[in-house]
Amino acid sequence: DDADTESLKWKFHDPARLEDVPWRLSLLSQLDKAIENGEVWLAYQPKLDLATRRTIGAEALARWTHPEKGPISPVEFISAAEQHDRIEPLTDFVLDKAVEAAANIGKRGIEFEIAVNLSARMLTDRRLPARVAAVLDKHGLEPGKLTLELTETAAVSGTGYGIELLAGLRELGVKIAIDDYGTGLSTLEYLKKIPASEIKIDQSFVKSMRDNRSDLIMVQSTIALAHSLGRTVVAEGVEDPQSLEQLTMLKCDIAQGFIVGRPMSYEEIVRRLLVERRRTAA
Ligand code: C2E
Ligand code: MG
Ligand code: MG
Ligand code: MG
Repeated sequence: DDADTESLKWKFHDPARLEDVPWRLSLLSQLDKAIENGEVWLAYQPKLDLATRRTIGAEALARWTHPEKGPISPVEFISAAEQHDRIEPLTDFVLDKAVEAAANIGKRGIEFEIAVNLSARMLTDRRLPARVAAVLDKHGLEPGKLTLELTETAAVSGTGYGIELLAGLRELGVKIAIDDYGTGLSTLEYLKKIPASEIKIDQSFVKSMRDNRSDLIMVQSTIALAHSLGRTVVAEGVEDPQSLEQLTMLKCDIAQGFIVGRPMSYEEIVRRLLVERRRTAA
């Protein structure tokens, strides 16, 4: 179906192209214009509360539909932007659009939280909390409805004002999530220190937990650890109904993945939320 083709296109990425400097630079030179021209847009992937089976929110994922080259994976253009100091305008755009979308959904009387990915590079900007506050204010979104996702590697990098900035964001009331947990370099010490309210278990563990006992144990013990630290746990990359049931039994809080819903347009996520509301009202 359409959704399948969409995701296959977006998953495509050629590692060789990441190393291809001319390609990267040509992308970059077009990125600002692409944002201006509306070629960059956001897909929303639903997050399911496993206890209530309700969609509690979505993660915003950047998409670039190039007029000639077609869809370009975020893995490609985001790493290019990071390496050449062009991540700020992109983050500003994503944050603005995502917060606006969440505010609009909230205005329809639907409980909805939004998550935005944040590059490590953004943790070097001391004005980040003020900038986030300004966007929330502009669209009238409660800070508690916004989660900023950081990869472990981003969060542990010694550069910038890491912990200090994260604390500033927490003070605003914004939530922090550790993305792709289990693949990075973070130590248990770090997990204790970082002011994250949410831990997202990387999809590599989740995908193989049905067939691989040690991955299942990793998932299970991460849930236990996170809960004992008072954190919410999200499983990423949940692709089949068995895994969804198993995660529910393991008391995982939230699931995200193709079985729950593919990344979709704003219109589609709104439609999904309205259908769900009608179903629960009935
Ligand atoms: P992520 O934040 O870990 O996002 C999850 C990725 O896994 C997304 O890929 C999503 O489409 C994919 N995914 C979700 N469920 C499943 C599933 O069940 N199976 C499989 N195989 N894949 C699944 P996507 O959209 O290609 O994004 C890749 C990465 O690019 C993201 O990983 C994130 O780190 C980064 N990214 C995307 N948008 C932004 C952005 O606006 N800013 C920044 N800084 N990074 C972004
Ligand atoms: Mg993420
Ligand atoms: Mg992730
Ligand atoms: Mg990832």
